[in-house]
Amino acid sequence: MDGLGIRFGGNHAVRDVSAALPAGQITAIIGPNGAGKSTFFNLISGFYVPTSGRIRFQGEDITRLKTHQVVGRGIARTFQTTTIYKELSVLDGVMIGHRVRTRAGLLDALLRTGRERRDEEGSRDGAMAALARVGLADQAARPAGALTQEGQKRVGIAMALASNPKLLLLDEPAAGMNPEETVRLMALIRDLVSGGLTVALVEHKMSLVMGLADHILVLHHGQKIAQGTPAQVSRDPAVIEAYLGG
Ligand code: ADP
Ligand code: MG
Repeated sequence: MDGLGIRFGGNHAVRDVSAALPAGQITAIIGPNGAGKSTFFNLISGFYVPTSGRIRFQGEDITRLKTHQVVGRGIARTFQTTTIYKELSVLDGVMIGHRVRTRAGLLDALLRTGRERRDEEGSRDGAMAALARVGLADQAARPAGALTQEGQKRVGIAMALASNPKLLLLDEPAAGMNPEETVRLMALIRDLVSGGLTVALVEHKMSLVMGLADHILVLHHGQKIAQGTPAQVSRDPAVIEAYLGG
């Protein structure tokens, strides 16, 4: 990201952020509420078009690509709240979630064109592989609503993995999780990274951030105020001020 920014009216939600997400590593994006963390993810994943700056991914300028094009380039994300199709099987939910993101839209996904049907076999295999990666292969046939909250969050990650991304963006993956669930999530993220994935995550749970991240990027009022290793960032005066001073 180079000089990345977006304004909503007079509000600079993200302002002049230059940063990199190193391949094969885990970068955490932290900052007080309203700092611009989710907006940052929305910019990278093509949900918002920046009002300034550029985004490059593997040598290509992706600044103005649409969300499904960004997914096609190898960037997938989860959301702060995952929409789970509770009545559908876990497998169908992952397949539909995958289609919605890789095609131009929901209607396209639901209408299932001829090509869609030909792709179905492949996307079923891809969805099964994604479920295996999050430890849910044996749950594929169950209704998604029958899973625990932790299981449903893993379904959300599987939806993102179904597009076989190189970069995975996780927005508050541990929200609402107890300590044991959080530890299991950390193990899962480490597994994914050791399999070659690059991860960026927004998270409030400092135990997770400090125990997992290779790098931390700190946003405050939309601006990058610090970056570095967990040890460096946790004793940065600007960071301490941002959290204590609000
Ligand atoms: P965080 O995820 O760090 O809590 P957000 O990225 O959600 O913060 O929000 C950062 C700022 O951007 C907030 O002031 C928020 O109101 C504003 N913002 C985000 N999205 C929009 C939008 N679509 N329209 C207007 N303002 C927005
Ligand atoms: Mg947020």
